[in-house]
Amino acid sequence: MGQGKIRRPLGPLKKFLCRACGRIIEVPYGVPKPMTCPYCGAPGFMIHRLNAGGRGGPPWAKG
Ligand SMILES: [Zn+2]
Repeated sequence: MGQGKIRRPLGPLKKFLCRACGRIIEVPYGVPKPMTCPYCGAPGFMIHRLNAGGRGGPPWAKG
C-alpha cells in the first residue's frame, strides 16, 4: 500500500466522437453517454468513446 491518493479532481471530461458530423462531444463524469448527438441528432451507435482523461490514456479505460 504505497499509493495513497486515489481522489481525482472534477476537471476532466469524457469525450465522445460523433462519426456522423465529426464533432467532439464532451460529457462530465457521472453523466452517461448521450443517446443522440447534441449537434446533429445522430443515434448513439454513431457516437464513439475517445480516450478518457486525456492524460496517458489508461488501457483499462477503453471500451
Ligand atoms: Zn453529430
